[in-house]
Amino acid sequence: MSLFVPYTPKAKECVSATLKILKLSIYLFLSCLIISCTKEDNTGETPEIIPDTTLVDRHGLLQVDGNKIVNKGGEPVSLAGNSFFWSNDNWGGERYYTPEVVAWLKEDWNTTIVRAAMGVEDPGGYLDNKPVNKDRVKTIVDAAIDVGIYVIIDWHSHHAEDHTDEAVNFFQEMATLYGEYDNVIYELYNEPLDISWSNTIKPYALTVISAIRTIDPDNLIVVGTPVWSQRVDLAAADPITGYSNIAYTLHFYTIYHQQWLRDRASAALESGIALFVTEWGSIGYSLVDSEANEWMTWCFTNKISHCNWAVNDKEEEWSILIPGASTTGGWSEDDLTDAGKLAKNIIVNWPGLTP
Ligand code: MG
Repeated sequence: MSLFVPYTPKAKECVSATLKILKLSIYLFLSCLIISCTKEDNTGETPEIIPDTTLVDRHGLLQVDGNKIVNKGGEPVSLAGNSFFWSNDNWGGERYYTPEVVAWLKEDWNTTIVRAAMGVEDPGGYLDNKPVNKDRVKTIVDAAIDVGIYVIIDWHSHHAEDHTDEAVNFFQEMATLYGEYDNVIYELYNEPLDISWSNTIKPYALTVISAIRTIDPDNLIVVGTPVWSQRVDLAAADPITGYSNIAYTLHFYTIYHQQWLRDRASAALESGIALFVTEWGSIGYSLVDSEANEWMTWCFTNKISHCNWAVNDKEEEWSILIPGASTTGGWSEDDLTDAGKLAKNIIVNWPGLTP
C-alpha cells in the first residue's frame, strides 16, 4: 500500500441504506462459493483425510503453469490471507509481527497465506535498521512454516531499482535460509511508481531473480508492476523469460479500482501471464463497497490468490484492527474494524483450501 494515496470518504452518507444489502450480498456470494465447492467434492467418495499434515505439506511448492498457479498435483490454487503492515521501526504495524498473530490468523481466520512487508527505503526501514527489520520478517516466515501455511517475503518498496544491490543481498540471504521450504514466496518489488516496466522494473527483477535462482532454483517469485502494481498489461506485453515460476503483482483497493482494472487484469491473464494479488484493501461494511464482492468473484473465478492489507491498528480505513488490539491475536469481533470484519468474512469462508 502506498503511504500517500489520498482518500475521500465520499460514500459515508450512504451507510445505513446499503449496509444490509452489502452484508446480504456478501453472505450470498460466500454461500454460493461454499455450495459450489461442496458440489465439486460430492463424488460419492469419502474425502481423503490425512492427519498431521499441514496445508503446505498437502499442496507443496507452488508453480506457475500458464496463467495459473498450481499445487504439486497440478491443480490451480487460490489462497486467501493477510498482509502485515510496513515493518518499519515505530510505524506501529511492526508490533504485530509476532508468531502468535500468525497462529491466530491461521486458526481463527483460516488464513492460508501471510505476507511480511519489509519496508526498505523509508525511515525506520531496512536500510536504516537491517537487523531488526530482517528479524521481523524472519519471525513471520518462521511462524508460517511452523503452522504450515504459505508466506510472502515482500521487499516493500516504491523505489527498489535505486537499491538493487541491497535487494540482491537480502534475497540471497532469504533464499539461503528458506529456499528449501515450499511455504516461501519471494516478492521483489511491492509497488513501483509510474516508471518503465521494460527499461527499469524488468531489468531490476532480472538481476534479483538471477541472484535468487543461483541459490533457490524453484520457489515462486512475484514481480511488481508499474503504477502501484496496476499496470499488469505492461508486464503481459513484455514478460520475463529465461526463468521459470514467475508471476506478476496486481493490487487493488476497492474505492479506486473497479471493473476497468479487472478488465485489464483479465486481458493480462488471457495473454498468458500469472497474477498474484499480494495486496487488496476494502473500506468494510460501513461504507458502500460492493466492489469487494465483484473483486472476490473475479479472484475466485480466475483462481487468484490474495492477501488483505493490513494487519494493523492504525486509524486508517484499511486496518483490520481497532487501536490497541492485542499484538498476540485472540481478537474478538469487537477488536475488528469494518474492513477487518469484511476481510475476515471473506478469508474465513474462502473455499478450496483448508489450513
Ligand atoms: Mg526452493
